[in-house]
Amino acid sequence: MGYYSRCRNLIATAKLINNEYAGIFPNTYESILQLKGIGPYTASAIASFAFNLPHAVVDGNVFRVLARIFGITDAIDSTTGKKKFNLLAYELLDKKHPGKYNQAIMDFGATVCKPVLPLCSTCIFQKHCVAYTQNKVNQLPVKEKKIRQRSRFFIFSLYSMAVK
Ligand code: SF4
Repeated sequence: MGYYSRCRNLIATAKLINNEYAGIFPNTYESILQLKGIGPYTASAIASFAFNLPHAVVDGNVFRVLARIFGITDAIDSTTGKKKFNLLAYELLDKKHPGKYNQAIMDFGATVCKPVLPLCSTCIFQKHCVAYTQNKVNQLPVKEKKIRQRSRFFIFSLYSMAVK
């Protein structure tokens, strides 16, 4: 619900649910998305975890897993890349068990296909993983926007005091 404004958004949403929805949490993706501070990622997570609705969660873990297994070189922060990853995530989603599927792929990314030192030697996708078979694990996923490095200069003054 927005990292820095989480508390304000929570209170606003609680009031809205109480006043407008008779205290009942909305149960469709579209209505969840209307709540303050909730974007597509959180709406998909709530819809699938709480209501078993077929919406694929695409977070950093999922981007990484899909990029590596399928060898996708589109930038995950580009418009075309996001579209491609979202479409693929939806295609792969287990429509009968979306909540469990979403949780599983996120956990897999967090514990096996990790950003640094992924556990490829024991990974069940090893034989089919494009990144692994083509030795590109460390090159995927691709990001368009690089972290901007800035040079900063600081001036320090040091005082020393004699202790008697
Ligand atoms: S083989 Fe390595 S890169 Fe490929 S899915 Fe498994 S952990 Fe990720």
